[in-house]
Amino acid sequence: MRVATYASHSALQILKGAKQEGFETVAFGKTRVKPLYTRYFPVADYFIEGTYPEEELLELEAVVIPTGSFVAHLGIQLVERMRVPYYGNKEVLRWESDRNLERKWLEKAGLRLPRVYDDPDEIDRPVIVKPFGAGGGRGYFLAKSPADFWKKAGKLGIRNKEDLSNVQIQEYVVGVPVYPHYFYSKLSRELELMSVDRRYESNADAIGRIPAGEQLGLELNTNYTVIGNIPIVLRESLLMDVIEAGERVVETAENLMGGLWGPFCLEGVYTEELEFVVFEISARIVAGTNPFVHGSPYSWLRYDFPVSTGRRIAMELRQAVEEDRLGEVLT
Ligand code: AMP
Ligand code: AMP
Repeated sequence: MRVATYASHSALQILKGAKQEGFETVAFGKTRVKPLYTRYFPVADYFIEGTYPEEELLELEAVVIPTGSFVAHLGIQLVERMRVPYYGNKEVLRWESDRNLERKWLEKAGLRLPRVYDDPDEIDRPVIVKPFGAGGGRGYFLAKSPADFWKKAGKLGIRNKEDLSNVQIQEYVVGVPVYPHYFYSKLSRELELMSVDRRYESNADAIGRIPAGEQLGLELNTNYTVIGNIPIVLRESLLMDVIEAGERVVETAENLMGGLWGPFCLEGVYTEELEFVVFEISARIVAGTNPFVHGSPYSWLRYDFPVSTGRRIAMELRQAVEEDRLGEVLT
């Protein structure tokens, strides 16, 4: 068995972790990035050109570790039909990609979510408007009243309530972004807190560098294009909240979709009332784990050797091989 992933996103970490656990590794993707995975950072034993070279992966007896990048490039329908073994539960994809199902899942888990407005004329506080499928927050806009909403939505071609099916209007929650990364071991039935990050986003993190007086004249719109990730260590009294939120998400997933296992992330903000408000779940490894190739403060507290999320995945696969339980973690 070999460990494979699409060459982008968190592949360096995944393949490094697999090698640390004694697996041979396969990266596949665009030719241009081959030197990144084979020469500058020699983590891939094999590099295959292509978005999803199924026959070659089957020949190499590869197991694919999904990332945001892999799912985005291949598309959910193709991922569902893959013949190469996939680490994780594919049932989760449908729940995660539909904003209404995702909300149902997180609500059942008892998480605090931003209020959603079905009718823009009810907007009574700042809101963030999210067109469906807007990658990386491009196309999002903020509004503070119904009039403000219709003015800004008009520029995107949304002129009446019939055009609203492709956007979600969420309460804008004022707080600092916090993204805890979890790992749920299906083999040992235990949840681990791996690390925490915040994103470094352009231009959201750039606007504060411009004096307020000048911002007014520039008429900037906020965008959330991810450029990198910054590690966070949480105030210790918040850790139990974050862990319990993760436990409930896993428990709810068992009832709704037959389980969530491997890495996942809750994406939200912490308010000044110390409340964690979650706006999204990512049911696989997130790139916010990349600062922790050599482990995080949290993985160091649990293990006496450096454990990244990539390595934790490989540890699980190695245990599954040794105990002859691969069928339980692959779909
Ligand atoms: P990429 O492989 O960089 O093209 O990214 C594929 C998907 O993962 C896109 O939806 C990106 O927005 C998301 N993504 C990539 N890198 C990061 C990151 N460092 N943090 C959060 N999301 C990311
Ligand atoms: P998303 O595409 O859902 O990951 O959101 C992109 C960015 O928008 C996040 O990193 C947050 O900074 C911000 N954001 C999203 N939803 C909200 C919300 N309801 N309240 C405040 N900020 C939000």
